[in-house]
Order: sequence, then C-alpha cells, then structure tokens
Amino acid sequence: MFITFDASPPGDDVPGVLLGFIGARYAREWDDLPPAERRARALSSFADLFGPRALDATGYIDQRWGAEPWVAGGPTAAPGPGVVAPYASALTEPVGRILWAGTETASRWTGFLDGAVRAGERAALEARRLVDASASDTETTGDAA
Ligand SMILES: Cc1cc2nc3c(=O)[nH]c(=O)nc-3n(C[C@H](O)[C@H](O)[C@H](O)COP(=O)(O)OP(=O)(O)OC[C@H]3O[C@@H](n4cnc5c(N)ncnc54)[C@H](O)[C@@H]3O)c2cc1C
Repeated sequence: MFITFDASPPGDDVPGVLLGFIGARYAREWDDLPPAERRARALSSFADLFGPRALDATGYIDQRWGAEPWVAGGPTAAPGPGVVAPYASALTEPVGRILWAGTETASRWTGFLDGAVRAGERAALEARRLVDASASDTETTGDAA
C-alpha cells in the first residue's frame, strides 16, 4: 500500500473501514494477480501497518481503477519534480471568457477533491469579478451590447 485512509463511517457502533491504494510499479505487478492473491497481499499490508486483526477482515472490495475504461487510473497524476511549477500559471490563465476550474489549477491539493473545491471557488470569484467589471463598464459607457 502506498497510501492508506481511515474510511470508517462516523459513529461508535460501525465497522472500521480501511482504504488503501496500490500505486506505480506495484499496481502494474498486482493488477495481473488472481483476486484472492491480491486480497491476501492487501490484507497482509494492512496487518503490517495496523495490526493482525486486519487479516480477519469481514469485508473486502477490490477496485482496479486502471481497468476502468472511463477512468484509466488514479487516484491522481504524479508528475515528476520541475514538471508543473514552470507552467502552473498557464493552467489558470483565462482564455477570453473561459475560466479554468479543475483540480489541476488549484494552488494546493492539486489532483484531489480538496483542490477541486478550492479551484472551483477561485474560478467562481474570478467569474464574479468579470461579471461585475463588465456591468460597471456597461454603466460607464451606456453600451448594453
Ligand atoms: C480512482 C480515483 C480515486 C481517487 N481518490 C481520491 C481520494 O481518495 N481523495 C481525493 O481527494 N481525490 C481522489 N481522486 C481525485 C479526485 O477524484 C479528483 O481530483 C477530482 O474529482 C477532480 O475534480 P474536478 O472537478 O477537477 O474534475 P472531475 O471530477 O474530473 O470533473 C470534470 C467533469 O467534466 C466533465 N467533462 C469533461 N469534458 C467535458 C466536456 N467537453 N464537456 C462537458 N463536460 C466535460 C467530466 O465528465 C467530469 O464530470 C481520485 C481519482 C480517481 C480517478
């Protein structure tokens, strides 16, 4: 597992749920394993990290995101050092009246839902400013076009 999450639902009387991603070369390696073998390896990884009770999981869901035709991988792109920084501003630069709001345009948590929300809020504020500026231009010039 290259990253794990406590995905337990809120409350006391609920099962504990662990979520883990298998990434990069491990994903390619594990992808071709029989599901039972992948399950055994995943639970063994959780046991190493969180203790032997993980081996007695009451449920197990295995999702191969790379095999999903409309997703083709996940959870996020991981460009190498120096790939994004020089060009990041180009991603957020408006093109005419088109504003960009995807998670890739976020200043923090790029590639995650948190970044998607931040980028959406930033783009909404930009849109608001453009609409306000356009309205005040119209008032000044009297041009309704
Ligand atoms: C397998 C996987 C697991 C993930 N796990 C996590 C996680 O645990 N935690 C986390 O924070 N993030 C996770 N992510 C990342 C997270 O899902 C994304 O960062 C987030 O959804 C990006 O939001 P977005 O609004 O930028 O883009 P998207 O959610 O991709 O939304 C873009 C939308 O635009 C639509 N669209 C595309 N082209 C057009 C077009 N031409 N016209 C109209 N609509 C169009 C698409 O259909 C889509 O609905 C995961 C992603 C994957 C793939």
